[in-house]
Amino acid sequence: MVRLAGLFSRPQEGEVEAPAQGEAPAQAEAPVGLETPTPPEPDTPRQAQVIAFANQKGGVAKTTSTLNLAVALSEQGNKVLVVDMDPQGNLTMSQGLNPDQITRSMFDVLVHRLPIDQVIQETEVDLAVSSIDLAGAELALSSMIGRERALEKALNPIKDRYDFILIDTPPSLGLLTINALVASNGVIVPVQCEYLSLRGLVQLENTLSMIRENLNPDVGIQGILPTMYDGRTLHSREAVEILQENFGDLVYKTRIKKTVRYAEAPVKGSSVLKYDPSGNAAAAYRELAKEVLNGAKARKHA
Ligand code: ADP
Ligand code: MG
Repeated sequence: MVRLAGLFSRPQEGEVEAPAQGEAPAQAEAPVGLETPTPPEPDTPRQAQVIAFANQKGGVAKTTSTLNLAVALSEQGNKVLVVDMDPQGNLTMSQGLNPDQITRSMFDVLVHRLPIDQVIQETEVDLAVSSIDLAGAELALSSMIGRERALEKALNPIKDRYDFILIDTPPSLGLLTINALVASNGVIVPVQCEYLSLRGLVQLENTLSMIRENLNPDVGIQGILPTMYDGRTLHSREAVEILQENFGDLVYKTRIKKTVRYAEAPVKGSSVLKYDPSGNAAAAYRELAKEVLNGAKARKHA
């Protein structure tokens, strides 16, 4: 099989970009699962870690991962907000809400500066909802000053209420995704374990380096999440190997396996953790939550 060595612009091990001041590298050294996460005291002021889920390819499990990681983090004692930045509203729908019946959505937040509280609904976790209007946001924002910072501005006043804010993005690298990347501390990139899916990462990395230069010097890939993994096929195993060769420790140890559970849960308007709490599909996102929490802890103590 053809390797992608050299195709990725990211520096290789040994010449990794210096982490931003006061920050540890994105991944913790600690092995997964050895530490029990300690939820913050109820009165401690919070400072949300903001994570965007991005990959301009559709169908790689961005929405599924945003919701299920959020619910897993919340199960472990964290206060979590998810933000639906996709005009298709799949995240909103996956919690049983109908985007067609939503009157005020992230569109109003981004374009009319409506306070974000007014579009947050209480579902399994707090959810800032999308509606089809959001499709018009790119155009409406494009002529506005500060168009790339609309989401960052909207989130600033509520960051002290959450431990994590997870942002689901549309399958493009347009202004909605750019808003998410500008507002974020890090990006989790779900990648389908297929050769062709890996190639799109180059474009995402280029967009991220452009954003670092111009808009948010600190944002980078926090982790790469192999999804729809089928350990029985050589193809899946090779895809993960290629990811590891190119991205090293940034690749999460958790593999999200291919199973129909992930498609069944949203039909019931619930996460897979609520739909099938004791199943392997739920366990996978709990494992991922531990990895993300260990990474967050490493950053805090750096
Ligand atoms: P994206 O947001 O990147 O477009 P989705 O999260 O909507 O991707 O997932 C695309 C489709 O694949 C959905 O129908 C979803 O239920 C399904 N899916 C997600 N994760 C998995 C998985 N691990 N195995 C099988 N199907 C999955
Ligand atoms: Mg989606």
